[in-house]
Amino acid sequence: MDLGFTIIILSLFLISMEQACFVYGWNLSDPSLAQIAHDLYHSSDDLLKEVKDLVGRHQDTLQMEILQAGNRGYNAEILVITYGHASKAIDNKTDFRILLSFGQHGRELITSEVALRLLSILSGERAMPGWDSASSNNALVNLIIKVVPMENMNGRKIVEAGDACDRKNGRGVDLNRNWSVDWGKKEKDFDPYEEFPGTSPFSEPEVQIMRKISRSFNPHVWVNVHSGMEGLFMPYDHRNTTPSGVNSNAMKSILEDLNHHYFQDRCIIGSGGASVGYLAHGTAIDYIYEVLKVPLTFTFEIYGDIEASAKECFKMFNPIDITNFNKVLDEWCLAFLSIFQSAPKQLEMALNKVGSGNLDSSLDEIFRGKMHSTRFEGLDFGMQELRTYFRLFMLSSVLLLFMFCSRISKSKCKSTIAI
Ligand SMILES: [Zn+2]
Repeated sequence: MDLGFTIIILSLFLISMEQACFVYGWNLSDPSLAQIAHDLYHSSDDLLKEVKDLVGRHQDTLQMEILQAGNRGYNAEILVITYGHASKAIDNKTDFRILLSFGQHGRELITSEVALRLLSILSGERAMPGWDSASSNNALVNLIIKVVPMENMNGRKIVEAGDACDRKNGRGVDLNRNWSVDWGKKEKDFDPYEEFPGTSPFSEPEVQIMRKISRSFNPHVWVNVHSGMEGLFMPYDHRNTTPSGVNSNAMKSILEDLNHHYFQDRCIIGSGGASVGYLAHGTAIDYIYEVLKVPLTFTFEIYGDIEASAKECFKMFNPIDITNFNKVLDEWCLAFLSIFQSAPKQLEMALNKVGSGNLDSSLDEIFRGKMHSTRFEGLDFGMQELRTYFRLFMLSSVLLLFMFCSRISKSKCKSTIAI
């Protein structure tokens, strides 16, 4: 067996040992980590049942579908709720479209609770204190809102089984590192337990489903909801800058308004890459913005306890008392209702600036809904995706070259000794 091949086999063995140790040993065996506040939080089954029951009671405004996908014996399904007024003809191409995703990371239970609360407000079953529902209803008539209450059900089950620190899906892949923009790039502080990106871009069924929804629905606004800190982020995650252009200004304006009116200016604002403290590669927001060209794309971090110890994962990502639990739900539901009202206006203002010849004419096309699924389904590859695949190609070429050279040097060595 030559040296190159031995090194590869040894590395793969060490990586797999590392994965197995963290995923199946240390975390699951430590009972101090299993501290879900069951008095406050729904189980995943109960939460999804409540959502389905809500849809059953409000079929005039809510619809649901279950999307499934599988890969190499691993299967996932995602419940998607669509809010829209049946009293008027819903036009997927001209209505203003918003896509909200919750629960991408298993341990961030509070996010799915916000989804349930928000849906109950949209259905009209629950009033929102401090919100003018009459003016809100006028704004809602022109919207279609898709809500994914629990993107990572398999990962959530692992958390409920006792590993409160787990953020990945049911087979150890971080769903917010499995998208194609800058996929697989690793920073110096890369932690495979936290951020394992999968074997290739879009290897994970959950990510395939979310890509499919995002493409076919083609939203104007997309929000990925997380917890672990309080932050209002826009692209990029893989660079420490924000994009240029009028829609970037619209995003900043929306975030500043939210922070000021609903969070007393305490949230961190900016690009994820510049604000979180590390660059992240292969994330959903960068794909949704860069490849799908959704003009208003956000990641919200809705809660974090920075004083919790490293082992107190539940406490670190989720409020554990009723006061803070309700505060988070109320504040963030108000923030979403505010976005439902303000986002169409903000984007229209941005569009007017484009119309006056300022920047990015593609925004006009996006806003009017002309850039729809047919264009993306047929031509999937953006420049970022091409770069990712080119990088993978170069990496495998170097590896093959290395193995080839080590073979040649070995054979030369033998002939020298023979002579
Ligand atoms: Zn997260």
